[in-house]
Amino acid sequence: MDKTKERKCSLCGRKESEVDILLQGVNGAICNDCVSRASDILKEAYQAEGNLELNIKTPKEIKEHLDKYIIGQDDAKKVLSVAVYNHYKRLMYQQERKDDNDVEIEKSNVVLVGETGTGKTLIARTIAKILNVPFCIADATVLTEAGYVGEDVENILVKLLQAADYDVKAAERGIVFIDEIDKIARKSDNPSITRDVSGEGVQQAMLKLLEGSIVNVPPQGGRKHPEQRMIPVNTQNILFISGGAFDGIERTIASRMKAHVIGFAETKNRSALDKANILQYIQPQDLKKFGLIPELVGRFPVLTHLNLLDKEALRKILTEPKNALVKQYKKLFSMDNVELRFESAALDAVVDRAVEYKLGARGLRSIMESIMNDIMYEIPSSNGEHKTVVITKKMALDKMNESKLISTL
Ligand code: ADP
Repeated sequence: MDKTKERKCSLCGRKESEVDILLQGVNGAICNDCVSRASDILKEAYQAEGNLELNIKTPKEIKEHLDKYIIGQDDAKKVLSVAVYNHYKRLMYQQERKDDNDVEIEKSNVVLVGETGTGKTLIARTIAKILNVPFCIADATVLTEAGYVGEDVENILVKLLQAADYDVKAAERGIVFIDEIDKIARKSDNPSITRDVSGEGVQQAMLKLLEGSIVNVPPQGGRKHPEQRMIPVNTQNILFISGGAFDGIERTIASRMKAHVIGFAETKNRSALDKANILQYIQPQDLKKFGLIPELVGRFPVLTHLNLLDKEALRKILTEPKNALVKQYKKLFSMDNVELRFESAALDAVVDRAVEYKLGARGLRSIMESIMNDIMYEIPSSNGEHKTVVITKKMALDKMNESKLISTL
């Protein structure tokens, strides 16, 4: 090749032979290094302007996206789609808002009430993915009031910072899922004079986080100590979604509703209540009765429920969502050039077992794993002997029955 004619990067001037990739444009070319440098500069510029590169979608678009991953739970999906949409609209509005006298749109933190394994975490995680914002899960059970054994409430934000690669600006518009919020309820509805370390103290500490203030976060987590450098994080635009099973709250809801209907057409109204899914009637006062302090309940203006997953829903969860378990196993097998099929009755047997274990969809994974594990162990070294594997009902039952994995569930 004539060296004098070798193409060059129009920005840095290096020759094609000196760079990895040279992209040719109409009047010039650019090398891979200049592209990545330019991208960094742009990112910084956007951040400096506080420009939000958010993927804002309408509530309908958010719900449609959630439908691809989450079976059922229509109420929760709708309520959350709106809450999230409003949350990010509020964020944009704040940037434009010039005058303190303008309307202030309040945060729409959410509480999801529903049994374990009904999709609470999955919904929160999926929403964060749609919006392309940092997301973390915090377990409320490990939190304690400052000064006691356990984690400080601020550690929730450490996880968010980690999820955002310590990009504070990104973390400040992320989503935090607080799991098992019901476990920090105080044990009785009556505020007692003696402080309840495990419950009320943590709830009080959490208020600061939720209401939108600057919180000093120890970068590596753990306990604060005086000489440690802190990262200030503004929680004003962080969306908090919390979830909990609130065991026994159905009784509170039922007795509240009974009190309402007493006196007029009691039986008629009561029969209209869907007893199995009484959670759909949940209201903020039920959370208070359960032991969340009123201030905390007030900071979660959006309250919605998740339904118990029946057989039909569990069956769909196995096969329909974008990353359904059956699809995942099929993909894994196809990478070994093996076609994997399940007898319909085999999947029914899996669902029956999951219902038996009362773990919602959570049990499906371990049950499937117990069935598939031996087969996945054998197939890759079978030298193409098997072109197709069919999981029959008998195979499924046998594997489930002999599995140690399941007996520990
Ligand atoms: P929760 O937070 O309510 O305890 P998760 O969201 O962690 O439950 O659910 C556990 C697993 O079960 C998820 O990873 C997902 O695979 C599956 N799952 C639960 N509910 C659903 C649902 N409604 N649709 C699809 N998959 C679900």
